[in-house]
Formats: sequence, structure tokens, C-alpha cells
Amino acid sequence: MLYKLTVGYFVLFQIDDMKIIYTAKEMTEISCELIKAGKTIGFVPTMGALHLGHLSLFEAVKQYADVAMASIFVNPTQFAPNEDFDKYPRDLKKDVEMAELYGIDYVFAPSNDEMYSKNFLTNIHLDGITKVFEGERRPTHFDGVALVVAKLFNIIKPHYAFFGQKDYQQTLVIKQMVKDLNFDIDVIVRPTVRLENGLAMSSRNNYLTDDEKEKATIIYKSMLEAKSAISLGERNKEKIIKIIVGKMAEVPELKIDYVAVVKQKDLSEVDNFVSGDEIVILIAAFLGKTRLIDNMLITV
Ligand code: AMP
Repeated sequence: MLYKLTVGYFVLFQIDDMKIIYTAKEMTEISCELIKAGKTIGFVPTMGALHLGHLSLFEAVKQYADVAMASIFVNPTQFAPNEDFDKYPRDLKKDVEMAELYGIDYVFAPSNDEMYSKNFLTNIHLDGITKVFEGERRPTHFDGVALVVAKLFNIIKPHYAFFGQKDYQQTLVIKQMVKDLNFDIDVIVRPTVRLENGLAMSSRNNYLTDDEKEKATIIYKSMLEAKSAISLGERNKEKIIKIIVGKMAEVPELKIDYVAVVKQKDLSEVDNFVSGDEIVILIAAFLGKTRLIDNMLITV
């Protein structure tokens, strides 16, 4: 947001400070005003503990929209009771500073009560793609994601919403929900940001020791090995999976949850790929108690 600043003879334009909004009502009022004024809104939903992956989405917003908004909300409905909701890293002050630095105009940071009142009764449930891989291991996860994202879309009313390829299955769930529920929103997916050693950036990397962070790079290395086998002509799904599992075995501390090689479009499985197939490697693995996910898109 710009406002005019006059210094002597000079008229300067200065960017307003970023604003933090805590209530849905105020957030919606602001969005409605902006839309009435003809502005487009770009929105990045996050759970905070911001890192360069999130910041790459913040940077992208400005290429699409007049006003950049982000939410910081650790959404309880997407965590199962045995998961890490309580210990999930939270540092609103630092996050807000980073968001401001990366050009966000409004941060929406609601409380749990603001998002889910005591008599909250609605669920959103998607079939199909929520039943496999992440959805199979975390059966309530994607319903919780869909619910919070739908609520945030209704509160913020963005024209564009930005998600990371890092959570590939999530991007399919969101696109499906946007289509099914007629949200008039462009979903934009941006590439996974990695450390130089290949480790995908993630808020959950905060749980890892430096040694574990180094060990976790085997996930990326194993996908690269599969990619090079595919480029050399390997087309058989089981053989590709074997290459990945074999490479990951170099770090015995890493316990594989699943390794899959499937079609990008709908996560469907085929035994043998053909040239031109757009496929995705999906991996989830535990390092100690920390669960890491990663993926790689490949055109065969
Ligand atoms: P989260 O805070 O984990 O809910 O993530 C918020 C958004 O940031 C989601 O769309 C994630 O997919 C995205 N994101 C997380 N890590 C990365 C990464 N390493 N690169 C790109 N996007 C990411």
C-alpha cells in the first residue's frame, strides 16, 4: 500500500508498514475494501516458522497481485492427536519481521478460538487422492487442511493463492477443492526450495540435529539417482523404487514410511512408464521421531 509523503518540494511515495490482523471480521473488511478499490489480492497460507521456502512464495505473490497477504496459523484440525501440534515451532514475532521484509502487506494471525469457535460443526472431506500416501498415513490430515484453507479463502477472498510443491499431494487436494467448491481463485504452485546440500526446507527441520540434517540429504540424493536411471531408459516402477530404497539404505537411521513413483496428475500407479509420462517420486521417511516428506517431478 502506498501513501504520499511530501518533503520540501519533493513528493515521495512510501510503503505503509505491514499490518497484522487477528480477527476474521477485520481481515474480511480489509479485503472487501481492497477489492472494491480494484486491487488484486495474492495469498500465502502458512503455519509460520518461516523459512526460505515460505519466503519464495511471498516473493512470487508480488509478481501476480497488487496486495500480498499471508496467514500464520498452526491449524489444529490437520494434526492427529499423536502428532506434533503442541511442539510445532512457533515464533510470531520473527515470522512477522520476515514477512514484512519480503513484501507482505497483511499478515492474518488468528487464534484457535477465532478460527474454531466452541460450537464449530463443519467438516470438509475429499475422497480419492486423500486416501493414499500422506492421506493413508494421516487419515484426518487433508480434511483439516481443506477446512482451514477453505475458511482462509472465505475470510481473505484472494484472487491468487500460492502453495509449495514441497507438499505435492496437498497441492492436488487444494486444486480439487477449489474446483469442486467453485472458489474463484487461481492456485499457483511454486518449486521446492532446498538447502545447497539438497535437503528440502521445512519447518520440521527445526527438530533435526546438524548431523541428522546432513543424513536427511540422502532423500534428495536417492531421487536424483532415480531420475538419472530414468533418463538412461529405466521405465519399470518397481526397479525405480528399488534404486531409491537402495540408496536410502546408505543411511540406516532413516526409516522409510513410503516410496512411490506415480502419475503427477492423479497419483495413479502404473507398472511401466512410457516416454512423455509426467511422474512424481513421493517419499516419506522418519529420522528419529521427525517425519520428513519430499518429492521430485520428472517427465519420462
Ligand atoms: P506450512 O507452513 O508447512 O504449512 O507451509 C506453507 C506453504 O509453504 C505450503 O504451501 C508449503 O508447501 C510451502 N513450503 C513449505 N516448504 C517449502 C519449500 N521447501 N519450498 C517451497 N515451498 C514450501
